[in-house]
Amino acid sequence: MSTAPTPRTRIRRIPENAVYDRAALHAILDDGYLCHIAFADDSGAHCLPMAYWRSGEHLYIHGSNGSRLMKTLAGGAEVAIAISHLDGLVLARSAFNHSMNYRSAVIYGRFEAIADETGKAAALDEFMHKLAPGRQHEARPGSRQELGATIVLRIPLDEAAAKVRSGGPEDDEKDMDIPVWTGVLPYATVRATPQPAADCRIDAPDYVREWALGRDLVDSPL
Ligand SMILES: Cc1cc2nc3c(=O)[nH]c(=O)nc-3n(C[C@H](O)[C@H](O)[C@H](O)COP(=O)(O)OP(=O)(O)OC[C@H]3O[C@@H](n4cnc5c(N)ncnc54)[C@H](O)[C@@H]3O)c2cc1C
Repeated sequence: MSTAPTPRTRIRRIPENAVYDRAALHAILDDGYLCHIAFADDSGAHCLPMAYWRSGEHLYIHGSNGSRLMKTLAGGAEVAIAISHLDGLVLARSAFNHSMNYRSAVIYGRFEAIADETGKAAALDEFMHKLAPGRQHEARPGSRQELGATIVLRIPLDEAAAKVRSGGPEDDEKDMDIPVWTGVLPYATVRATPQPAADCRIDAPDYVREWALGRDLVDSPL
């Protein structure tokens, strides 16, 4: 299944790095926690970092109902959202040909609010499931007051682009004899050892132990 590009999601610069495959887009989104949302209001253009999660063909965000960002987006502002993962620094023989390996996605559109309390609670459970699979059954659920103070928004993945660069440097023929180290410095975000709170008296559950091993409980029921 592929994402048919629209005029603004057709990748023109280095089009061979474009990825219009739906599964690849999902994989890029599922590998991250942070997005950057660009929007404009009366005071100009803004681009703000946010936590996100994907469910099906939508990307979700949540935030305080006192937030300028959330109120603007709930009001139907047009947005562009970027998610990117840095995979390596690419060192070429010439300064010009240095590059980066990455996987990135851009989504366009407008958010819609999840208005009903049940839908909001279910969406937030999915977020918890993404952070720590199974924890949504253990932590105290949001109270009516907490849910009321929280806006949950979602945007369809209808208009999205993905771009991926991998591999080594692409040097010019004329530079091949320059005696300089060339290659890739791989770069990755790594999980570190969980740190129990000083007052935590509970043994680490499976999702914490799996985190330490670099794995998610992907089959854990929602
Ligand atoms: C970690 C990282 C570092 C980068 N560093 C640089 C840099 O230093 N210099 C540089 O010139 N470029 C860099 N890029 C690439 C940059 O994101 C753009 O793809 C590139 O600059 C071309 O921009 P453009 O507007 O000409 O693209 P066009 O191909 O004209 O863009 C057309 C459309 O394609 C989509 N698109 C473009 N780029 C991306 C993308 N990266 N991911 C998903 N969709 C995209 C958007 O929908 C865009 O509107 C980097 C990308 C990443 C992820």
